[in-house]
Amino acid sequence: MARWRRSYWTQLGMTASLAALLALPLVSVAGAAAPTTTTSQGAIVGGDGIGTPMFTTVASGSAPDNPVTLPHWSSSFTYQGTTYPFTMVGSAPALGSATTTIPTVIVPLSFTFSNGVTLDGTSQVAPTVASPIFQNASFSSGTTQFGDAMQRAEFWNYVSTVSPGYHVLLGAPTVLATQSYSVPSNLGVEFTGSVSGAPIGLLSYQGFNQKVGNLLVSLHISPGTIPIFLTFDTFLYLQSVSVCCVLGYHGATTSLNGQGMQQVNTYLYAAYSEPGIFGALPGYPSIQDISALSHEVAELMNDPFVGNVVPAWSVPAEPQYGCSNLLEVGDPLVDYDYTVNMHGVKYHPQDIAFAPWFEKSPTSFSINGQYTYLGTYPTYAPGC
Ligand SMILES: [Zn+2]
Repeated sequence: MARWRRSYWTQLGMTASLAALLALPLVSVAGAAAPTTTTSQGAIVGGDGIGTPMFTTVASGSAPDNPVTLPHWSSSFTYQGTTYPFTMVGSAPALGSATTTIPTVIVPLSFTFSNGVTLDGTSQVAPTVASPIFQNASFSSGTTQFGDAMQRAEFWNYVSTVSPGYHVLLGAPTVLATQSYSVPSNLGVEFTGSVSGAPIGLLSYQGFNQKVGNLLVSLHISPGTIPIFLTFDTFLYLQSVSVCCVLGYHGATTSLNGQGMQQVNTYLYAAYSEPGIFGALPGYPSIQDISALSHEVAELMNDPFVGNVVPAWSVPAEPQYGCSNLLEVGDPLVDYDYTVNMHGVKYHPQDIAFAPWFEKSPTSFSINGQYTYLGTYPTYAPGC
């Protein structure tokens, strides 16, 4: 099967296991390197002990030259003599103020497990629409949506000078019909979190991914629209429930449209979740509400076609990614969440790494010269 310019599963620490998982009909892999408990992140405390939060990417098809897809811009950077091209959503920040608004649909996913319990993403549509993912909130780069705030902060040297009106926005989402599934016991399980008390659904990554792939076809979503597949307290396991948990992913898929032109659909899955299911770093809130969605929205904006290769990086806090070479802006900062107040309601996006961090630039063009939105990392990415 033709693929993008490089294999996407090089992103993950469980390289061999995930590759095998996606290639084989049966989930059976020897020597899996994926973490099985939260103890792989030593500083994490609390949580239900169901596994380490992970996020993946999904790509398929070959990279077309002039795809029919969402608005995007391309540039490149050079590190140690090698040029790294990249593509992002929106317009080029250096070219002045412009507003890009991407049409968005939410596809709520509802799963009824073999014990009779249903976990329905529909229940979290309203708080998702009310969140800073879609509504304006106060960020250091302006009062705007989360994703736009991250792009503005990332390219702040332009935004603060030649492009003050630069924006990459998600359009007010259209909520599509809920897609409901009954989950056979060999493809998922539901139980109550031992500490959080929250209902927790775990689904086979492979089985879930097939459903998403089918929906991308059957729902006839325009390649210019981003669909958000939304679950509630429902996460994905890899080879078995002991190799858990994927909370979100984003992907791109290529197909031909009626005129024989290549079109590329981008999409994302995110689990809306209750607090305390996953442990937390001391001083940080646990993963909850829009944390996974914030991760995926920022990543899709910064690598819509899952093709932005960067110099290898690795961070001690995120062993689940091993040695990555992808510009996935959420991956270096899983669990580094913070609070955004929206009219008295608290939401919890996660920190995001900026391009200069991946580019290993000795100075940062991002806001306040920082390498991440919160300034979590004081300098550029460590190698590996
Ligand atoms: Zn990610």
